[in-house]
Amino acid sequence: MIDLKQDVQYIKGVGPNNVVLLQKLGINTLEDLITFFPRNYEDRSKPKKINELIDGEEALIDVICASKMNETRFGKNKVILKMLVRDDTGDCVLTWFNQTYLKNKFKVGERYQFYGKVNIKYGRIEISNPVYDKQGINKNTGKIIPIYPLTYNLSQNKLRAIIENGLKIVLENMQETIPEYILDKYKLENINKAIKQIHFPDNFEEYNKARRRFVFEELLTVQLALSSLKTRYDKEIDGIEFDKNVKMSDVINTLPFKLTKAQLKVLEEIDNDMESNKPMNRLLQGDVGSGKTIVSIICAYKAAKSGYQTAIMAPTAILAEQHFNNFKNILEKFGIKCELLLGGTRAKKRSEILEKLKNGDIDILIGTHSLIVEDVEFKNLGFVVTDEQHRFGVRQRTNIIGKGLNPDVLVMTATPIPRTLALILYGDLDISIIDELPPNRKKIETYPVNKNMEKRIEEFIRANVQKGRQAYIVCPLVEESEEYDNFKSAVELTEQYQNKIFPEFRVECLHGKMKQKDKDEIMQKFKEGEIQILVSTTVIEVGVDVPNANIMVVQNAEHFGLAQLHQLRGRVGRGEYQSYCILIYEGNAKTIKERMKIMKETDNGFLVAEKDLELRGAGEFFGTRQHGLPEFKIANLFEDVAVLKEVQALVMEIEKSDSKLEKDENIKLKELVDEKFKDRISI
Ligand code: ADP
Ligand code: MG
Repeated sequence: MIDLKQDVQYIKGVGPNNVVLLQKLGINTLEDLITFFPRNYEDRSKPKKINELIDGEEALIDVICASKMNETRFGKNKVILKMLVRDDTGDCVLTWFNQTYLKNKFKVGERYQFYGKVNIKYGRIEISNPVYDKQGINKNTGKIIPIYPLTYNLSQNKLRAIIENGLKIVLENMQETIPEYILDKYKLENINKAIKQIHFPDNFEEYNKARRRFVFEELLTVQLALSSLKTRYDKEIDGIEFDKNVKMSDVINTLPFKLTKAQLKVLEEIDNDMESNKPMNRLLQGDVGSGKTIVSIICAYKAAKSGYQTAIMAPTAILAEQHFNNFKNILEKFGIKCELLLGGTRAKKRSEILEKLKNGDIDILIGTHSLIVEDVEFKNLGFVVTDEQHRFGVRQRTNIIGKGLNPDVLVMTATPIPRTLALILYGDLDISIIDELPPNRKKIETYPVNKNMEKRIEEFIRANVQKGRQAYIVCPLVEESEEYDNFKSAVELTEQYQNKIFPEFRVECLHGKMKQKDKDEIMQKFKEGEIQILVSTTVIEVGVDVPNANIMVVQNAEHFGLAQLHQLRGRVGRGEYQSYCILIYEGNAKTIKERMKIMKETDNGFLVAEKDLELRGAGEFFGTRQHGLPEFKIANLFEDVAVLKEVQALVMEIEKSDSKLEKDENIKLKELVDEKFKDRISI
């Protein structure tokens, strides 16, 4: 058997210097080496005729050497070699810098293949620093060549040679890591063929098969790991059984509106979880304005009347305050005591709250990060809600949960992500979705417009503000930047609006570099109507409710992801007034126009997210990291959605038939998960 864990230093071609360089790339063992996948490939397999060459492309030519090497020296130690080559369609000049050893390499009249970047100027065709092979040899040309992510001082050729040597060691002897029945069912390449073809594919068809196999394996491993976390929570920990005699309908009947079908369905799912003795771990997804808050209020009622405390954690003070008012309005009449604890809460008040919390005199505590501070102690925390989850790390979720004894947890998010992605992001949670908005909402009118409409937009804002409304303007930048000189910055635009365009109104600026206290103050004044126009960056993205605001203008809308635009749009349309979302964009690219069209025509956040995913492929702005997605070696969650779906269907089957991976046929899967996630899953 091959020792995949052997140190790379024993592999041919790896000297002490290279060991250090390889380590920088995260390569320590033979296994790391052969699973260090290329980031790209160059097709050097198909020669082109000289008269077919295109300026700027990399191309292979099959030619006769037509001149001796011409050598020009200049500067200190600088040499240029030039040589003429020819095929039956034309001539081409090859140029090398400082590679004197090539001087006598080629013989006039003999045939070679060259590969390099084509440069065409005034009809003169040149290829600089080409790699080459003599006719009949396929070392650097005549095949598909892998391109690896590199580190300083390690060349493609060197790394390629080392990886080739690594592959020679494993040859046909790698142990298959995926069970036979899965390979068969999903038509996956076996590991030995795939590992060779992923590095040195015979053709792109073989490459695709190899890649599919590794993508499948990687996604399968992550998904199984998440699934095992979930079953662990489910099966092994005892949670709280909330009182079956406490009826959610008692609150529901006092509300001034009827809950939507979707809200009722979600409440039923949560109610079941709460009454069971397993700790709930549930994600509540719902479009902006779909009414998630009221759902959490009803659940907190159930917790309080069952004798348990609830913690509500929001990402900003403003939101926490907003929640506090909502909770109080609905629950105080039932004798339930709510309190607000913020970072800025005065010391005296704070110690009063902490005291009451410990004694159980407070039923519901609402706050921000302030809740996870050490001296915040609950008497019997039984229910935890985190709002707008993507602003909190998993760590914070765990910290607040730790203040109770296996409390039920509800995670609320308004970032509509397709279910497939939600399963990767929140795979350890059960998912409930509110897929319906309350009735009688006025549809927000969305207008994608060009920059030259700016004056008209300003007049439109003026007309609305004169009628008493308010407007949000969102910019991609805080301050002016040379790098993005066509982007609007919030600071500059505020100045311009306040001093030149809207001197009669109060215009203020809000951005992430400001102190929390200042942000809160400005937001508060906007809420109270003292500020009419709020220019900001995307800091206002998160759930703030200002029903009087009816205009959302997004500058450089082409810069934002669709999901983000949708989220921004959700800031308006919260009151009785007809609302507008104006997307000012630049550029004529087809994708930009298509995306703007989707925004205009689609007001369902989930559809927007699906389309975004479809259009975007390589998720340039989605900001994978920000969403806490795991990092993948080869899978791309945006391009590989189809494989992800297959994997998820498979994992669901396995969850049903063998959730602990104990059957013989699944032993390999267990090894796969243990191997890759042994550190992370042992909680
Ligand atoms: P989000 O899901 O974005 O957090 P909110 O919970 O803030 O949405 O709800 C938005 C607004 O809709 C609130 O003012 C809330 O009172 C109201 N609302 C919630 N559910 C309903 C309903 N079923 N019918 C009418 N209005 C509702
Ligand atoms: Mg909300």
